[in-house]
Amino acid sequence: FFWTFIDQATSVIERVRLQRENLRIEILQRTDALRSALLSSVSHDLRTPLSSIKAAASSLQQEDIQWDEETKRSFARTIEREADRLNRLVGNLLDMSRIEEGALKPEKELYPLPDLLDDVLERLHTLLQGRTINKNYAEDLPPVELDYLQMDQVLTNLIENAVRYTPPGSPIDIRAEQVGHEALIQVADRGPGIPPADRERVFDKFFRVTNTRPNIGSRTGSGLGLAVCKGLVEAHGGRIWLEAREGGGTIFFVALPIPVTEQGATQAISRS
Ligand code: ADP
Repeated sequence: FFWTFIDQATSVIERVRLQRENLRIEILQRTDALRSALLSSVSHDLRTPLSSIKAAASSLQQEDIQWDEETKRSFARTIEREADRLNRLVGNLLDMSRIEEGALKPEKELYPLPDLLDDVLERLHTLLQGRTINKNYAEDLPPVELDYLQMDQVLTNLIENAVRYTPPGSPIDIRAEQVGHEALIQVADRGPGIPPADRERVFDKFFRVTNTRPNIGSRTGSGLGLAVCKGLVEAHGGRIWLEAREGGGTIFFVALPIPVTEQGATQAISRS
């Protein structure tokens, strides 16, 4: 009996060891597949704007063609827009790796959200040409503690998506208000929406909804933007999610905690 027991125990241990080994190999294979997917997606993302920049710069330098001023300006605009795209992609990649290393610490300062939103809109004004932006900022919204550059990156990603995944010219609504102890920002578009099954997964890195195509002239993405938004918002102690917009489209929500002293200050103001 004793030897049978030992035999059985040994074979169980061996089976568990094999299972663990197989699991380890599977994880390694998946990590490898993910790394290749990342490399090919990122290389493609880097190459597309670089090709446009190179083409515009070469055209400007062609000696046998006299470009008129307007055409020259349009080449310069292409260079600027594509450089902005590269900047955003590199920013997202750097942030993603910092988030994963746990090395991303927001350097927070007390800042009014409407000012930040207006700065972002101002910087994106070329992209937003021909769009109606309906702004609705609550006047009594207290300032929140945020890392300016990180929250700028979050809002830029959300607003750029609202442009890239919706028909040209369709309006975008931006709201900022206090709800409970949080400052709530909403970015709403009238695009194709995101299927219910994908509403959480869009915040996973490299996840892209298969049936959404960015509009003409936009780059295809790498699926990093919303993963970075989630990492940055959570590093601020906040929450990010999305809901379907009534009448079609998507609303992205970002909720950031309002510091207790500021909550008190607003209550004092609104009572007086
Ligand atoms: P990227 O846009 O670079 O692919 P994101 O992480 O920003 O990566 O977005 C992930 C996916 O979520 C997009 O590929 C797109 O399919 C979908 N998506 C994001 N924003 C919107 C939106 N406003 N409307 C519809 N689909 C969206």
